[in-house]
Amino acid sequence: MMLPIVRPHFPKLGLFAADFNRALQTGQVTNDGTHVQEFERALTSILGAPTLCFSSGMAALVTMLMASDVDGFDVICPSFTFAATPHAIKLAGATPVFADIDPATLCLDPVDVERRLTTRTAAVMPVDPYGICFDVPKDWTDIDVLIDSAPSFGSTINGSHAPRGHAQIYSFHATKPFSTMEGGAMVSTNSVLMERARQIRNFGQHDNHETRIIGFNGKMMEVCALIGLHQLETWEYRRNARIESASRLRYALEGIEGLRVQHNPLGHEPVWTYRPVFIEPEFGKSRDAVAAALQERGIGVRKYYGACHLEPAYKHSTYPFLRATELLASQVISLPVYDEILDSEIKMIADAFKDIRNG
Ligand SMILES: *Cc1c(COP(=O)(O)O)cnc(C)c1O
Repeated sequence: MMLPIVRPHFPKLGLFAADFNRALQTGQVTNDGTHVQEFERALTSILGAPTLCFSSGMAALVTMLMASDVDGFDVICPSFTFAATPHAIKLAGATPVFADIDPATLCLDPVDVERRLTTRTAAVMPVDPYGICFDVPKDWTDIDVLIDSAPSFGSTINGSHAPRGHAQIYSFHATKPFSTMEGGAMVSTNSVLMERARQIRNFGQHDNHETRIIGFNGKMMEVCALIGLHQLETWEYRRNARIESASRLRYALEGIEGLRVQHNPLGHEPVWTYRPVFIEPEFGKSRDAVAAALQERGIGVRKYYGACHLEPAYKHSTYPFLRATELLASQVISLPVYDEILDSEIKMIADAFKDIRNG
């Protein structure tokens, strides 16, 4: 038995073949087509705030930063994230300033962020790691908070997925729980910001075709919106099944000495893009050895997230020592979750950890 790191779900072709074929026949395959508009309206009503679709989470991320005018300034972000986070800050012309995470939540540590605020800080960009939502501190009213929620579509705090911060982006990539193959979205109640984002997504063009600001091509294709609309029909069921899969996996792994399973913070319900576990010294084997042994047994795992500030692309700059980030990035293994993981698959993962520990 092989367990891939992700097992994406997509609607059957027959469900959207006629609409897709019509788009191919009429030639209206992109450029703010009817399906993208319909998908945006559906997302707006689910998320409770205006939503724009993009060709990828990365395109939405760069657009959110460009629209927020961070060019030439600093943006504070975690290092314990996917490299897309600091890359987007760089591409928007700003400098990423890495802050540490809180080991209890794996999210940005607000106290460490506050220590790093300067007159050069244009924004703070928290991440929702694995789908665990960053809880924006109530007193951050003066801070421009732009959230990289790429992995957390469907995650809630106290039952709510109300928008947090000034703007948020989601990824609908095939590795994420809710997918349009490639795709993303930006959500914000700030209408000026959203209008700028809409123009940036289309080469900086205003509706009258004047090029008013710098932009690029971030448009979602019609076929992706069609898939997204069909994904929404099964989403509630799949979201709940996925959360249940993640908790069954957690219970099966509890009690193995030296293996710490990340719990959800109180009141949080993450969708768990992956389920992170940490190999502590009591396990008696190194994280790298455990990850390799799991791979050898056919269990797809990732050493993820890493510490971005230690990656070759970033380590030429001098960054501060980030205690929690560096420790956890050296211990973490991301396990697959799936919408519906079988009991036999959970047993295979738990047995593998026990064997590796005793072997
Ligand atoms: C997946 C991910 C992205 C990138 O999204 P794409 O849709 O693949 O471009 C950005 N940031 C984080 C934290 C992610 O997990």
